[in-house]
Amino acid sequence: MTAVASYCDAKAHHGQWIVRIEDTDIPRIYPDSEQHILKCLDAFGFQSDAEIIYQRHRLDIYQSVIEQLKQKHFVYACECTRKILGSNHIYAGTCRDKQLDFQDQAIRVKVSDQNICFNDRLQGQHCANLQRDLGDFVLKRRDGIINYQLAVVVDDYLQEISHVVRGADLLDNTERQIWLGQLLGYPALEYMHLPLAMNHLGQKLSKQNLAQALDLKHAPELLLQAIIALGQAPVDLDQPDLMLAQAVAQWDISRIPQGTTLQSIYQ
Ligand SMILES: [Zn+2]
Repeated sequence: MTAVASYCDAKAHHGQWIVRIEDTDIPRIYPDSEQHILKCLDAFGFQSDAEIIYQRHRLDIYQSVIEQLKQKHFVYACECTRKILGSNHIYAGTCRDKQLDFQDQAIRVKVSDQNICFNDRLQGQHCANLQRDLGDFVLKRRDGIINYQLAVVVDDYLQEISHVVRGADLLDNTERQIWLGQLLGYPALEYMHLPLAMNHLGQKLSKQNLAQALDLKHAPELLLQAIIALGQAPVDLDQPDLMLAQAVAQWDISRIPQGTTLQSIYQ
């Protein structure tokens, strides 16, 4: 559904649609999952308008951005273990003034006591107070893994992304990303967060919740289902690329269901 919506939105505005593999969390990547995703996109008629980049091949780029942030004293080393932090998700800034050496420590970015707001094209105004709601957040883990928040902000900038269309599960990450972009002097982006497809238990459809993989043999029928779930006018069953072309021509974001979740899209 995210692929359909982002593709139609980009193409309806004569933009480019770009595939990026966000795989910095290397130990958690399922073997072959990337190839499976790319095969799926292909079977459903999607083609990236730029070379597909893999974030795990770009770690030196993210590291150089961390060096920039270090020079400006926007980041610091944090020695807190997960055990110390416990389940409290808002970091209290314990290591902020310790001046720890960066070697082998997590790296956190400082946030300030201010509201960050943005106008989501679908969800309306969304705000967070960085200090109160989020706290200083990790850009690089102690084990060297680059955090998604940093990688995505850097690549959106380097790939000259203007519009982000993604699932509403990422809504609460957006203020952090806007903050990082501001610290780095990057231009602001437009956001649209789509309602998430839920199962009958009210859980997001995902591998963790044992959602079934897409059956590529039924790509046209499934594509039609996704288009309809997004509130769009139906398209004629055909080859997926032709169905997408029709969906682009009919694309109307005012028809996308309101809210952050979609129930019972499987009738
Ligand atoms: Zn700490």
